Amino acid sequence: MADCVFCKIVNKELPSNVVYEDEKHIAFLDIGPVNPGHTLVVPKKHAINIFDIEEDDLKELVAVVKKISMAVLKGVEAHGVNVSMNNGKVAGQLVNHIHFHIIPRFQDDGFRHWSHGKYKSGQAEEVVKRIKKILK
Ligand code: 5GP
Ligand code: ZN
Repeated sequence: MADCVFCKIVNKELPSNVVYEDEKHIAFLDIGPVNPGHTLVVPKKHAINIFDIEEDDLKELVAVVKKISMAVLKGVEAHGVNVSMNNGKVAGQLVNHIHFHIIPRFQDDGFRHWSHGKYKSGQAEEVVKRIKKILK
């Protein structure tokens, strides 16, 4: 897709530090890593995010994410990894071409994840009802 930075990386119109590539996927280092080894796993076929990608393509992508997660963990001798995807602008999605982040984590690396709140009385039940209604 024209004007998509990750399509440009896929097509080698932009450089990147590629750690893995197959017919349908590419994985490369994030330009602004949370920790060294922070890797993005991207399907070559353009889709915007989880709401847009075809289910079979997502399944294949997740299989690659598993493989790369293990390689990142061992390769940078991390103690764990966060695997995450931002979907939508308010969720922090800056690049509108679906990608998983694999973020190596180290003991006391200081990286803060999201904070946790609390449900008010009856709120959890109401939220469950609303989500289940959509799934019917
Ligand atoms: P998002 O916020 O959309 O989930 O994450 C986009 C990620 O892509 C960011 O972490 C950002 O650092 C990374 N990124 C943006 N542009 C480039 C680029 O041109 N090359 C590489 N390697 N990473 C990029
Ligand atoms: Zn794209």
